[in-house]
Amino acid sequence: MYAVRLWSVRHARGLRRVYRWGAGVAPLLAPLLRWLGPRRGEALLYPLERTLKRLFFDCRECGQCVLSLTGMACPMNCPKQMRNGPCGGVRVDGGCEVRPEMRCVWVEVMDGRRRIEPALAESCPTLPPVDGQRHGRSTWIQVIHGQREPVVSAPPRPPRRVRSTTLGPFEAACRSGRTVVTVELAPPDSADPAELLERAAGFRGLVDAINITDGAGGNCHMSSVAAAAVLAAHGYVPVYQTVCRDRNRIAIQGDLLGAAALGVRNVLCLTGDDVSRGDQPEARPVFDLDAVTLLGIARGMCEQGQFASGRRLTTAPDLFLGATVNPFVPPGEQRLANLEQKVAAGARFIQTQFCFDVPAFAEFMAAVRRRGLHEQAFILAGAGTLGSARALRWMVANVPGVQVPEGLLRRIEAAADEPAELKRVCIETVRELAVIDGVAGIHLMGHRNESVLAEIIVESGLAARPRQN
Ligand code: SF4
Repeated sequence: MYAVRLWSVRHARGLRRVYRWGAGVAPLLAPLLRWLGPRRGEALLYPLERTLKRLFFDCRECGQCVLSLTGMACPMNCPKQMRNGPCGGVRVDGGCEVRPEMRCVWVEVMDGRRRIEPALAESCPTLPPVDGQRHGRSTWIQVIHGQREPVVSAPPRPPRRVRSTTLGPFEAACRSGRTVVTVELAPPDSADPAELLERAAGFRGLVDAINITDGAGGNCHMSSVAAAAVLAAHGYVPVYQTVCRDRNRIAIQGDLLGAAALGVRNVLCLTGDDVSRGDQPEARPVFDLDAVTLLGIARGMCEQGQFASGRRLTTAPDLFLGATVNPFVPPGEQRLANLEQKVAAGARFIQTQFCFDVPAFAEFMAAVRRRGLHEQAFILAGAGTLGSARALRWMVANVPGVQVPEGLLRRIEAAADEPAELKRVCIETVRELAVIDGVAGIHLMGHRNESVLAEIIVESGLAARPRQN
């Protein structure tokens, strides 16, 4: 079936013409459908539709077909069911993070869109979350009733609620114009918060906010919302990371309210790593939402004061929403389009993947500036360090989406003191990233390397001004 999928993308232009023609004549069948009634009409039409779509597109029967918008590649073939752009783990050769034997579905989508019309590869419409009730239903019934194109998400409505004038400390720091600094901490494998507090203490006065990862790499730790609340209760400014892998939209919205009630204002919305990379690969992934739809829902809760269902909230949360981007993986043009989608959906700050290739990042930022995205969201460049060149090589080989220039790896390997060289490289990188036009700050990562990260902040000059944390 995979070969057929590739064939359909290669013939996207012709197939789209066929679709357009079909969608044009389909309404002629409306009187027949009305005569048959909805049940009998669907019972007759659906088996035919399913057979054809399985044959040509490896259809997953979501009942909300978007092939005409996605270059004739079905996004439901993505193991994370991403309907709004690729995840950050696409491999350099365009292979899927989860199933490397196949091309990333979003590489196929952009290929198909480019074949239909080159300009289409610059953007992609934002699609709403999948409606689970439509699984196994006919889409063509809707086309016959006159809905020629798939439903796309409406542009965001202006806020109903006047935004509070008291900015959270992290948002205020971003708006101050100085280079902000955030650092990432993985919550402990413990029911005792003491270890978390001890590790956070090393950053007191050095950073503007501390990210708390949510089951990073698909591994289980203390819940990120609880760890973020612990930090908030002890006077830190946390960024609560929430992924779509483990919770459906009902649970996530509840967690967002819970986070706000516990004093957590900053939320980083992520799709999340697949479970296959974690310590419990047998777990069932959820992926009810993707990062873009999650942002849209969170924004609706804040600005419209309502759940995704439209039900009103008694008190709306006041959240500073963020998202991520990985500038270093294919499909290149889709990275910007996806960033644009995230910003339009509500992201006000962006944290990037590890950045070791400064010229490549500078090129990405030039494209960001051309689209004016740096004026709509605060861009924090990701940087960091590991304990050895071997660990770095392992990360390049095993963590999809991380790119390190070979020359840099050799420089570190040739050094007499590898950890010191790694630290030096990170300081150089941070200094170069911080002065790129449009960069609002630096986001530091380094698994269980807190003391080195703290030294890097000081030695690179980032901690020159007093900070909130
Ligand atoms: S790389 Fe990511 S977005 Fe692409 S198909 Fe695989 S899981 Fe989906």
